[in-house]
Amino acid sequence: MQVAPPLGSQADGSRETGCAGCGSATYIQAIMDKFGERVCRACVRETDGFRTVTKTTAKAEYLLSDSDLAVIPSELKPNPRNTRFRDMRLYLLKQLREKAYAKWGGPEGLEAEHHRRRLARVQGCAKVGHDFCDAKWDAERASSVQTCKRCGMQTEVMDF
Ligand SMILES: [Zn+2]
Ligand SMILES: [Zn+2]
Repeated sequence: MQVAPPLGSQADGSRETGCAGCGSATYIQAIMDKFGERVCRACVRETDGFRTVTKTTAKAEYLLSDSDLAVIPSELKPNPRNTRFRDMRLYLLKQLREKAYAKWGGPEGLEAEHHRRRLARVQGCAKVGHDFCDAKWDAERASSVQTCKRCGMQTEVMDF
């Protein structure tokens, strides 16, 4: 698995082709250089797969570990909120999905793993006792709801 191909290297003799999505002759060089994907502007607009997301999102939403992420191309960008913060490591959504679906068995497998972990978190938390914050009115449920600060479990409370 190739992580960061050296810039401009075509030394492996592979024939240069265009966009992998539609076969158009052009592709965006910057995406090719950073992530090794040949894609044209039209195809980028058609999908959200070429958006970049942070490492935090990669771990939380796609349940990928550091070693999973180590084999996926990434880009370092200065933190837009504060340049003194650590640089953000960004990943291509498309490549995160491919990795996560391979690891968890497709979108359904990933969702099932999310569900399993949520359940385990709530059950673990229940053993020591949830730590609920003050009740807040939830208009959608038309009742007051308390949320556990640790596991996120919600419970409706009766108002009298
Ligand atoms: Zn294309
Ligand atoms: Zn809890």
